[in-house]
Amino acid sequence: LFAGETEFLKGVVAMDGLPPADRLEVCFAGRSNVGKSSLINALTGRKALARASNTPGRTQEINFFTLGDSHYLVDLPGYGYAEAPLPVVQKWQRLLKAYLSGRQTLRRAFVLIDARHGVKAVDEEILTLLDQSAVTFQAVLTKADKVKPKDLENVLNQVRGALSKHPASFPEIVVTSSEKGDGIETLRAIIATLE
Ligand code: GDP
Repeated sequence: LFAGETEFLKGVVAMDGLPPADRLEVCFAGRSNVGKSSLINALTGRKALARASNTPGRTQEINFFTLGDSHYLVDLPGYGYAEAPLPVVQKWQRLLKAYLSGRQTLRRAFVLIDARHGVKAVDEEILTLLDQSAVTFQAVLTKADKVKPKDLENVLNQVRGALSKHPASFPEIVVTSSEKGDGIETLRAIIATLE
């Protein structure tokens, strides 16, 4: 799956802009600066692929990438920055909700969590939305190279505790470092085996 080409397809700002649901799909969510672009780039082996989705103006869009010819990889807007005016925030929250609850081909959401910080209050909103939408989500720790093994154990326990309150959570947590390449193959294998 990851041997093929990954291409940016389009940024979506309204439900009628969604590409046809004709492929399996996975999406990535996380607060701004969690390392989402770096992870998508590491997964797809394309250095600057997700940069487009990080440029101003693109940040409130749902960005679709084609993954080989059988999957879509979907980059959800980063959250946790309050710089956008409330009506804008509310508009994209409605879009996000509609997308998550209506997308038949969406197989899993990967929620990125900084390995130094664990699950924060700002993450809870998306976890609850995923529960309500019945979208199975899996936590992915990012920047694992920045924490000592003992601290990583503590964070993993904190994340496990937080996930246990969310019925849509998948129990296995993936530990990654885009910088070192840790966990990237594991994540690729998880995505490739979704049916
Ligand atoms: P995004 O806003 O979630 O897309 O985050 P970025 O991918 O742009 O990363 C935010 C910052 O964290 C950048 O300075 C990255 O270089 C850094 N970063 C991302 N992933 C890693 C990682 O695995 N290890 C380390 N040490 N830094 C990382």
